[in-house]
Amino acid sequence: MKKHNIMIPKPRSHFAKVECDSCKNIKVLYTFSTKPIVCPSCNAELLVNTGGQAQILGNILETLD
Ligand SMILES: [Zn+2]
Repeated sequence: MKKHNIMIPKPRSHFAKVECDSCKNIKVLYTFSTKPIVCPSCNAELLVNTGGQAQILGNILETLD
C-alpha cells in the first residue's frame, strides 16, 4: 500500500490589515483586488493594480487568511 502524500496548498493571504501612510487609518483590504482601494478617511491610495497584480501602497501591519 502506497502512502499518499496529501498536498496542502500553501495558504495565501487574501486580506491584509493596512495602515494608511497619510492619516494612519487602518483598513482591512482584499489583497487580490482588481480595483484600486483608497483610504476611506483621506482618499490616499492603499492598493493599486499594476498589470493584473495588486500592489499595496500602505504599511502592511498584518496579513489575514
Ligand atoms: Zn488615509
